[in-house]
Amino acid sequence: MEGKEELGAFDPNIPEERPSAPPAGWLDDIHGYQGHKGGDPDPFHPPPPAFNPQPEHNKNTLVPDVRVPSVSEDVARDALVKFVQSKWRYSDKPARNMTFKELKAVTVYRYRLETYTETRSSGWQFEPYNSNRLDGPQWGLSPLPWDVPVLAPPRFTDQVQKVRVPHSSVVKPCHVCSGIGRTRCSACFGRGQKRCPFCHGHGRSANRRCTSCQGRGRKRCLSCHGHGYRTCPVCHGSQNVLHFVQLTVTWKNNVSVFIPDRQPDFPDENFKDASGDTFFVDENMLVYPIQGFPDQEICDVSTRLINEHLNRFSSTSRVLQQRQSLQLVPLTQAFYSYNGKTYSFFVFGTENKVFMAKYPSSCSVL
Ligand SMILES: [Zn+2]
Ligand SMILES: [Zn+2]
Ligand SMILES: [Zn+2]
Repeated sequence: MEGKEELGAFDPNIPEERPSAPPAGWLDDIHGYQGHKGGDPDPFHPPPPAFNPQPEHNKNTLVPDVRVPSVSEDVARDALVKFVQSKWRYSDKPARNMTFKELKAVTVYRYRLETYTETRSSGWQFEPYNSNRLDGPQWGLSPLPWDVPVLAPPRFTDQVQKVRVPHSSVVKPCHVCSGIGRTRCSACFGRGQKRCPFCHGHGRSANRRCTSCQGRGRKRCLSCHGHGYRTCPVCHGSQNVLHFVQLTVTWKNNVSVFIPDRQPDFPDENFKDASGDTFFVDENMLVYPIQGFPDQEICDVSTRLINEHLNRFSSTSRVLQQRQSLQLVPLTQAFYSYNGKTYSFFVFGTENKVFMAKYPSSCSVL
């Protein structure tokens, strides 16, 4: 039957294509998973009080006193020579020939607080239903959001897990095709054919029979191959849809870092990539603010950040673990003279990184 095309007739019983979400009220609420009013698709389930620990009050966190690390002249010079050699516009001559006047070590503590949380939210999901297996309410009540068993990742690692809530599955005739398995083709409005774009439906163009449509004025719809309908995009033709409650479990490590600003000439953002020596780590379900540390600002910051984290996370998440740590980040300001003038630069981080605002030679490479 070459050249002849089977064209489907318009069938008023085949529903139009439309958005795939089921209409409101399509499904009964599952106990414990009632959606929030206002159209939030994935409402959060605040953890029950028993899941959030309370801080213990009679505990002291004492931190040992530490010595400020300093670098030697040789280390400082090496660091500077390496630094200027990595910049094309600097000569390393001043770095090799300068005279050190003073090396001033500065005490820089980095405080870090991590709060590891778990959050649970849920929403309806659906998929085509083809099998006989169905874990529905006939098998019992669904466990409450915080009782659904999940396999937690290692502590302080971020992860998202999506879990099908047990006994929440329900099968309904497809809400998009009304259980027919097909939807009307929206490209040809179900007619199976479209007006020929070459002759605009006249069958002739420039007084000659249109060769594109053989004079018919119409062409087969390519979207539906002339059928007028397509396989339903939601049930994939299976006519039925399986709805279930999906629980989204999110583990997240929330980190706050603080470094007191003690050296106005040194831009603090340099510390971001600089390593330090960790000399104190305290890990617990909830940590208690640092007390008795010689630097009062660190004690205050520890108190403030711990409170902030608890306020921010405990209403929406379950706090699983906390960790606070203190690092000493090396920072030395080196003063030197060259050609009768005084300059300075900073050596910082355990990597001996260099920062300088001014250098004797900045445009000539000798
Ligand atoms: Zn079509
Ligand atoms: Zn034509
Ligand atoms: Zn369908």
